[in-house]
Amino acid sequence: MAASADRDVLSPREVALPAFDCQSCGACCAYSADWPRFSTEEDAELDLIPEDLVAADQSGMRCEGGRCAALRGEVGKGTACAIYDARPHVCRACMPGGDDCLMARGMYGLALELPISPLVGD
Ligand code: SF4
Ligand code: SF4
Repeated sequence: MAASADRDVLSPREVALPAFDCQSCGACCAYSADWPRFSTEEDAELDLIPEDLVAADQSGMRCEGGRCAALRGEVGKGTACAIYDARPHVCRACMPGGDDCLMARGMYGLALELPISPLVGD
């Protein structure tokens, strides 16, 4: 899911995985109002999410259409999550290159395959 606006450094996991750049995507954060729902979060975790970004029925993130209210920027160009460090568990589970990611990217007509790096050597 979209990365933090004020985060310049990728996590070790992001560095280790050859993957799409979430900061120029954001498709999964704007795919469906049914996606950013709360699941296994503790109350203390949910308390970190600003109330105005939570759905009226408290079931997940507030969405406008299919787009999460915490998503900043333009899908497919440049995006960020306004609550990256407090984002719901389902957001953390959506991995670049995974099935959900590809489904969301496909809806926005974004590339579904990574560019192939030229082999070095020989
Ligand atoms: S759709 Fe994939 S690449 Fe795009 S923000 Fe979500 S996880 Fe990242
Ligand atoms: S909370 Fe953040 S990571 Fe999760 S859907 Fe919304 S913008 Fe995306």
